[in-house]
Amino acid sequence: MKVRTRFAPSPTGYMHIGNLRSALFAYLTAKSMGGDFILRIEDTDQERKVEGAVDFICQTLDLVGLKVDEGVGAGGEYGPYFQSERLDIYKKYAEMLVEKGDAYYCFCDEERLNKLREIANARKVPFTYDGHCANIPLEEARKRIAAGEKYVIRQRMPKEGVTSYIDTVYGEIKVENNTLEDQILIKSDGYPTYNFANVIDDHLMNITHVNRGNEYLSSTPKYLLLYESFGWESPVYVHQPLVIKADGTKISKRNKDDNLMDLINRGFLPEAIINYLALLGWCPKENREFFTLKELEEAFDIKRISSAPGCYDIKKLEWFNAHYIKELDDEKYLEWVKKYLTLDVSGKSEEWVNKLLITYKDHISCGEEINEVVKNFFTDEYNLSEECKEFLASDPVIDLVIEKFISEIELIEDWNCDNINLAIENVKNSLNVKGKLLYMPLRIKASGYMHGPGLDACIYLLGKEKTLRNLRK
Ligand code: GLU
Repeated sequence: MKVRTRFAPSPTGYMHIGNLRSALFAYLTAKSMGGDFILRIEDTDQERKVEGAVDFICQTLDLVGLKVDEGVGAGGEYGPYFQSERLDIYKKYAEMLVEKGDAYYCFCDEERLNKLREIANARKVPFTYDGHCANIPLEEARKRIAAGEKYVIRQRMPKEGVTSYIDTVYGEIKVENNTLEDQILIKSDGYPTYNFANVIDDHLMNITHVNRGNEYLSSTPKYLLLYESFGWESPVYVHQPLVIKADGTKISKRNKDDNLMDLINRGFLPEAIINYLALLGWCPKENREFFTLKELEEAFDIKRISSAPGCYDIKKLEWFNAHYIKELDDEKYLEWVKKYLTLDVSGKSEEWVNKLLITYKDHISCGEEINEVVKNFFTDEYNLSEECKEFLASDPVIDLVIEKFISEIELIEDWNCDNINLAIENVKNSLNVKGKLLYMPLRIKASGYMHGPGLDACIYLLGKEKTLRNLRK
């Protein structure tokens, strides 16, 4: 049987890295076994629906290369792929369960349920429905419905026995049936709950492996009872560990380090994001860090998903991104990095701008950072950081180094890196200074930065005039 997995987001806003990690694992589960990846939109919670969210989900998947084989945006034989367009289907299957006695109509109104909630609260026990309508004869229930009474459909849970299953990641999960609530399958507005729709859709869409967050681990026995009632074979469950943040804060679509569109807009490369996210909760067989998506498709193995939470750290993502930036060939890199360049380059030759950007290729960890690291090349008004100022005042020889370098630079007729290196060499020999005391003052004074690429290249790009102006300040 062909493996089929699904990503089933609720369209409640932009995607964050936790959502993308779920999509990625579902995608890799399918691809590692030659299967199909399906996109289903779980939009049954009409109140939380956000305009444009579906487009963002599709765009994001597209951008990072997770090609949807079937479902929203791709079509397919098992549609519709929006849950809100499948209400008749859920209704039909819920009625089938009622007919079999495994579900029942419930007429309890909010008032009664609130009373039950209050009692549970006062007793400090979790609220569970008390089965008040469980034994209403079907005939009578149907009459009440025909008379226009509001109702929900509830699953009738067995009162004894145990339901268990083996989760691929977490092993055996067992639940005593008498602890399970008669949960709502169809709400009074006719919409299904997640608890019902996921089962119906996963079955009807022939999903073989269900990848989802581990928050569903303990409700899965209820879903298994539904599969049993229908006489359907249940899928393989691959519950995934949470993604948590290194700094202890919660992942949020509104945080710029977590929101995918923000990350992309700041110049994080999709390859880097995918590579990093794959390692958040999955451990490759070999001790290896860099994987293209193609390589992940081959190396991924659901058995190696870890049950421990993946710890998302933007610093680590920056490290991956820096690696992928370095890997770009110069032409691709220039085309990419220029999209993030906001400095005014008018009056500069294209050749100079390109050289500058390439010189800094190994020194940025995301696209927009380019502006910060090269901005002093575009202004005479740079401000020195406290750290730079402290360094310049840290040794009396520093003033001599700068003075000597000025005189050496003044003598250069042919402005090139060799002659600049010669000038540095002359300062070194005449004052007998080397290392940090030689290079750091020259870099700070000439460029305004404490760190950066090769000093000769930086000074070359600054040009003779600007270098002298800066050094004399
Ligand atoms: N719609 C659910 C959510 O966004 C997905 C759960 C699932 O994959 O089954 O949390």
